[in-house]
Amino acid sequence: MSADEFRRHGRAVIDYIADYLERVESLPVLSRATPGEVRAALPAAPPLEGESFEAILADVDRIILPGLTHWQSPNFFAYFPANASGPSILGELLSAGFGVQGMLWATSPACTELETHVLDWLIEMLALPEAFSSRGAGGGVLQDTASSAALCALIAARERTTAGRSNDAGCDGRLIAYASTQTHSSVEKGVKIAGLGRRQLRSIAVDERFALDPAALARQVDADRRAGLVPFFVCATLGTTSSHAMDPLEPIGEVCRAAGLWLHVDAAMAGSAAISPRFRHLQAGLDQADSYSFNPHKWMFTNFDCSALYVRDRSSLIQALGILPEYLKNAASDSGAVFDYRDWQIPLGRRFRALKLWFVIRHYGVAGLRHHIEQHVDLAQAFARWVQACPDFELVMPPPLNLVCFRHRGGDAVNRALLARLNAAGEIYLTHTVLAGRHTLRLSVGQTMTEERHVRRAWEIIQAAAAEPGVREAH
Ligand code: PLP
Repeated sequence: MSADEFRRHGRAVIDYIADYLERVESLPVLSRATPGEVRAALPAAPPLEGESFEAILADVDRIILPGLTHWQSPNFFAYFPANASGPSILGELLSAGFGVQGMLWATSPACTELETHVLDWLIEMLALPEAFSSRGAGGGVLQDTASSAALCALIAARERTTAGRSNDAGCDGRLIAYASTQTHSSVEKGVKIAGLGRRQLRSIAVDERFALDPAALARQVDADRRAGLVPFFVCATLGTTSSHAMDPLEPIGEVCRAAGLWLHVDAAMAGSAAISPRFRHLQAGLDQADSYSFNPHKWMFTNFDCSALYVRDRSSLIQALGILPEYLKNAASDSGAVFDYRDWQIPLGRRFRALKLWFVIRHYGVAGLRHHIEQHVDLAQAFARWVQACPDFELVMPPPLNLVCFRHRGGDAVNRALLARLNAAGEIYLTHTVLAGRHTLRLSVGQTMTEERHVRRAWEIIQAAAAEPGVREAH
């Protein structure tokens, strides 16, 4: 593709994205594609000769678009959001345009230094503990996902506890990790990948608000220690996936400090809320954490993937994950004056993710980001009040932030039928969970373009669907 062709087609793609974002609100949020439908529309064999860009873009519209679930629709209330914004999309494009691979400082100094700098900015923006700053012994790094962040933390904790022996000789089956029954499944996956063994992960009970019970944690740590095992790692969550429960960091941190355990805090979505002083009380006790992660790709308008991981002691991460083959040796690394982020993550290669986050922060400014986050929380809280005021529905718990867990009082079958009806109709998209054994609907407000009218309309649609034949009688 010549530079002129690239300019022409590039403009067409930007126009296509702009048009898409303008009309995405009118598309059915959950894709209606049936299994195999997308593949059936694609040619069986790849083209021998190159095709025109117009033909490719036309197929995007004809084949790909109907096979998308529209995460960027303002009517997307499912899961947690994966929100995006104009500046982040353009930052992503520029990152692809530069096409650098930032495994070492030397392979693109700007890729590393911008990342360090933006992650230090975030410490100030979110009032995170200064111990995470690169100015001291800590530091931040962008990972692809919170799952990778938890895995890196697990491995760093494993090596700290065994003084590097697990990396040399493998695990001896005595290391024990702890998380609540509500912790994201990525921790269980991480325990498997890190070679600890799934049976070495203890599921700790939660209280009536689905938050980890620190007394139960302390009892289990004590019992394991007396059984000759080696407790080493706790994952606490700020904003669990099911209900957005907030684990109490202060008492959990005390248990960890007393027993010498690594504390990882996962705030995948909720972490972004700390941009507003209104919500910072939720992270009280974070100064006890050895590592912390949150996802700008969930709720900070920065498109997937972009997950921030902070550590209090970067040497623990680097010692656990560092590797130095001859072909990566270079003078800058030897000098000790630079970060080589390949040693802070699982893969060797890495994308220039900081560019899009930098664009987002500069475009919105701290005040702009704060405004949008506060608005999302206010909308979710308003929705919770409407639910509470309606005799047919109940709130499962008061929403700490922007996720509302609620249900129809008619029982599990009604809630299942209601959700199926809502998602089939296509105007909004919600997902479910099970809390205290009962089918529960989740409404998560976090898409960049969601406004009050969308949340109001969602509530109207939910009430109307609940009154429809087939839903009402589904007892
Ligand atoms: N932790 C929590 C609390 C989550 O809700 C999620 C995903 O929703 C994750 C971790 C995993 O996120 P990722 O897809 O970035 O691995």
